[in-house]
Amino acid sequence: MRALVLLFALSSPALADVPQVQTDIPPVAALVAQVMGDLGTPGVLLDKGGDEHDMQLRPSQMRALTDAQLLVWVGPELTPGLDTARQSVRDLQSLALLDDPATLRLPYTDGSSNPHAWLDPTNASLWIGVIAQRLSALDPAHAATYAANAAAAQTQIAALDSDLASQLAGLTQSFVTYHDAYGYFTAHYHLPSAGGLAAGDAAPPGAARLSALRAQAEKGQIACAFPEAQHDPALITNLAQGTAVFVGPPLDPVGSTLDPDRHAYAKLMTALTHSLLTCANKP
Ligand SMILES: [Zn+2]
Repeated sequence: MRALVLLFALSSPALADVPQVQTDIPPVAALVAQVMGDLGTPGVLLDKGGDEHDMQLRPSQMRALTDAQLLVWVGPELTPGLDTARQSVRDLQSLALLDDPATLRLPYTDGSSNPHAWLDPTNASLWIGVIAQRLSALDPAHAATYAANAAAAQTQIAALDSDLASQLAGLTQSFVTYHDAYGYFTAHYHLPSAGGLAAGDAAPPGAARLSALRAQAEKGQIACAFPEAQHDPALITNLAQGTAVFVGPPLDPVGSTLDPDRHAYAKLMTALTHSLLTCANKP
């Protein structure tokens, strides 16, 4: 009899609750929030203004991770600190989006693997489906809701993508950015990027790279340079000094200044577009 009661308890709706989900960065939180809709709200672990490449979890964030059933994140290449933390949490499922075999992958200019893959909306749309599948496996009772929310979110991303593509068609000037995060965005929208000051991830740029870019700037081969929200703008300012290079507003490729709600992905992509367009419309 006791075994029967236990069996019944295991299949009862109480155990089919909506999973608690944690995410790494605001654009990923936004994709999860769109799929969950009114069923739940994912947490986000990156601090406001934080640098994704050296994320370290505080005790309160470790507790949030311990309470979660699922971590949805880009993967260890973006946030090695989170990789170490999540391996110490028992029974935490992990969905590393870069691991999905259909994800479009691009290298940094130096040839190593670039993890900033959310900046291509094709990947964001793919990942929405991947997230819905994993949530449905954990919570089959709500599978129809996850699928419907995912389809609606993919329709919104397609509309955003064509809107941004038509705006960015006017950007033909060559520009540099602080870190080399934007390859996915510039490839998708066919933009003439001259790359980042830092050739790989957020490590400081080397002297050889800086003097090569400085030479290009002096020859007028670079129209604009963009600093970044999380980094000192001095290197960008120095590159432009005494040349015709226009210094644009700071970019925020990871959305570290945004509220991590369901609108954060569209806000990030729209803000990036508007900032880059200052290069085409500069005074
Ligand atoms: Zn980055």
